[in-house]
Amino acid sequence: MEVPMRHALHNLPEGLAVGVGFAAPDLGNAVSLMTGIGIQNMPEGLVVAIALVAAGRTRARAFAIALLTGLVEPVGGCSAVRRWGWPACSCPGDSVAPPAPCSL
Ligand SMILES: [Zn+2]
Repeated sequence: MEVPMRHALHNLPEGLAVGVGFAAPDLGNAVSLMTGIGIQNMPEGLVVAIALVAAGRTRARAFAIALLTGLVEPVGGCSAVRRWGWPACSCPGDSVAPPAPCSL
């Protein structure tokens, strides 16, 4: 489980970076950053899953664990948005509605 833990830790600052992007006024830059990080997350998740299968996990379990490591990113993203500014979209658990509807 060392590889998934490291990958989850790796994903936290990536999520923070995306969140900071969405806290900035230029939504286009934020979408570009999110798209780039999202694309590179696919091979990263695949590597995690392959390592888990090689360690004896089933493919379904490896997929689920790799997916969970990726879910750390929205946590980092929402943390950054809450710290540095209003998002274009609301984060789960927000008690106050965003000033504008989510539109990308
Ligand atoms: Zn990454």
